[in-house]
Amino acid sequence: MSSSYKGGCDHVQVKATAEPIDNHVCHCNVCKGVTGQQTTHVAFFNHSDLTVDHPEKMNRQPFNKDNPSGPLELCTCSECGAALMLDDKQKRIRVAVPNVMGYDDAKFPDPTYHAFYDASKDYPKPSDGRAVYEGLRPDFVWPEPA
Ligand SMILES: [Zn+2]
Ligand SMILES: [Zn+2]
Repeated sequence: MSSSYKGGCDHVQVKATAEPIDNHVCHCNVCKGVTGQQTTHVAFFNHSDLTVDHPEKMNRQPFNKDNPSGPLELCTCSECGAALMLDDKQKRIRVAVPNVMGYDDAKFPDPTYHAFYDASKDYPKPSDGRAVYEGLRPDFVWPEPA
C-alpha cells in the first residue's frame, strides 16, 4: 500500500509519509464555510507524518474564525493563496482536505464515517451505510504532541 500523498500548490509542496489516522466525511459548518462544500472529505495525520517543503511561505489564520483561539490553523500559500493544510498549534495532528488542497482525492482511502452531522442540518442524514456521529468517532484518540 502506498503511504505517500502529495498535495499543495506550485510554491509549497505538502507530503504525507504515512496513512491517515482518521479519515471521515465532515459535516461541520467550519469546513462548509472554508470549502464551500456541503460535506468535506477530511484526513487527519499524525503531526510528524505531514511535511511541508517551504513552511516560510505559509500564511496562518484561525481555521474557525468564530473561535480564533481554537487549536487549528488554516495554512495558505503566501504567493497564490491556495489552501495547504490545517495545522494543530498543539502539534498533535495535521489535516488534509484532499480535494481542495491539491491532492489526488482518488488515491486516498475512502472515508470510514460521517462526522459532525446533527439534526439541525437542512439535508437528510446520510444513509450510505457508514456510521454517522455528531462529532468525531467516539473511539478517536488525539495523538500525543509531536
Ligand atoms: Zn469539519
Ligand atoms: Zn502557491
